[in-house]
Amino acid sequence: MKNLTCSVIITLLFVFTIQAQQQNSKNKTNKDNTIQTQPKLIVGIVVDQMRYDYLTRFYNKYSNGGFKRMMDEGFNCKNNHFNYVPTYTAPGHASVYTGTTPNYHGIIGNNWYDKEINKTVYCTDDDSVQSIGTTDDAGKMSPTRMKTTTFADENRLYTQLRGKTIGIALKDRGAILPAGHTANAAYWFHGADEGRWISSTFYMKQLPQWVQNFNASNQIKSYLKEWNTLYDIATYTESGPDANTFEGGFNGKDAATFPYDLMALKDKNSGFDILKATPYGNSITADFALAAIDGEALGKDEFTDVLAVSFSSPDYVGHNFGVNSKEIQDTYLRLDKDLERLLNGLDAKVGKGNYTVFLTADHAAIEVPSYLKSLNIPAGYFDGRAFKEKLSVFMKARFNAEDLVENISNNQIFLNRSKLLEMDLKLDDVQEAIVNEIIAYDHIDKAYTGMSMIQTSFTKGVEELIQNGYNQKRSGDVIYVLDPAVISYGLTGSTHGSSFNYDTHVPLLFYGHGIKQGHTYKKTHITDIAPTMSAILGIGFPNAATGQPLEFVFD
Ligand SMILES: [Zn+2]
Repeated sequence: MKNLTCSVIITLLFVFTIQAQQQNSKNKTNKDNTIQTQPKLIVGIVVDQMRYDYLTRFYNKYSNGGFKRMMDEGFNCKNNHFNYVPTYTAPGHASVYTGTTPNYHGIIGNNWYDKEINKTVYCTDDDSVQSIGTTDDAGKMSPTRMKTTTFADENRLYTQLRGKTIGIALKDRGAILPAGHTANAAYWFHGADEGRWISSTFYMKQLPQWVQNFNASNQIKSYLKEWNTLYDIATYTESGPDANTFEGGFNGKDAATFPYDLMALKDKNSGFDILKATPYGNSITADFALAAIDGEALGKDEFTDVLAVSFSSPDYVGHNFGVNSKEIQDTYLRLDKDLERLLNGLDAKVGKGNYTVFLTADHAAIEVPSYLKSLNIPAGYFDGRAFKEKLSVFMKARFNAEDLVENISNNQIFLNRSKLLEMDLKLDDVQEAIVNEIIAYDHIDKAYTGMSMIQTSFTKGVEELIQNGYNQKRSGDVIYVLDPAVISYGLTGSTHGSSFNYDTHVPLLFYGHGIKQGHTYKKTHITDIAPTMSAILGIGFPNAATGQPLEFVFD
């Protein structure tokens, strides 16, 4: 009897357990297959030339509503890197939004030598379109050279073009490439003596009324004022001394020290263009992004819109003053305020919880090499002109030809293909001869033939990054890598472009609808952002995406 009772209890327990498991798995199945609610608006924020450590170095000086709000309430990917070279603005913006690298999207630099037409082209210039909002050629731009779709394009296809895409940046390429091929509009800033937001006939026949109103207002001009530090400069203990020998500065002012009278300096610094190299360029961008949310009614209906905003000014400030300058610190403390203003505006206009934001960069930047050298850290400068001359002497001696090298750009050497044919020279032989020659030159640390990029599949190290940046149709015949902390640049200010951590390690913050709070040190790549956004939207990935959705950020 006792045994029977036991058996019955065990059997009942077994049955209940099975039922519970079935119920659980039923709930789970239902949950996983339920169409998720989508955010009303995706806001992509790219900060041009933002190092990861700007989040931590200036953390204690940030307000609670900007970077800190995203870091503390959102998800912080602390080990996020570019996975290709060169780390420049145009490939950076294209890779963030297409989820792939230059070998697929084709944006191999800001400018590159076009082998088919034998001339250097700019990533977004397009003679087949006209400027809108200016009589200048600054508007003759489109994303046509980018070969793949962005997640914003996929959202347009998915929503039958009902979800909008708007791209905004001071730099044309920072607005145009993220917004993709199907954008409703991309707007960029025309400085000089105009100081206005412009576009091209690729997007529209005329500027919408809200843009005309913005340009007609005094808002942009109001920033031609004094630039002094936001807080007492004595409290800026996270950057170097204001007066030092590693900074450029503005024309018309001897010392690169605060304060800067922008109204007085503007005539010697290309008029309104001076604003680009100050934190006010970010404020103008935030002002215009907020106006766009109203003007385009973004995030108002059931079809998700995409607003791609890029803050270009930190790049201009970094190039001019270097990453350790008081000017950079002030630029980030002020950008933090503009970010707070933008997030508060989104709360008010779209509603907290109705939008998803990511924040990243298009590349980071190096500490000024002359500063590193002063601290005995190996660093230096590469003389591109001397390199070209030395190589040309070698080519003459070795092949008895003057013009076999057609172009050197973005650390790549382009050979004259028709000359090779004419001289009956084998491409492989010439590529290899150059590699063996230049590897002996000062500051060249590595060199590879274009052929090796096509024939080998690299899975780690700098070789993988070069291969990801190597586009067979567009890239050169020999690729070289400079020593760490060696740049081809002037002695003041910072630059970028390499495969080293100082250029590849950038912030990646997610915040808002569909995002949980947390952080990771797991390595993530810039190409993961677009598939992550696609996953949040439940839409197809950009057509050549190679990144992976970052599942651990999902709520
Ligand atoms: Zn730059």
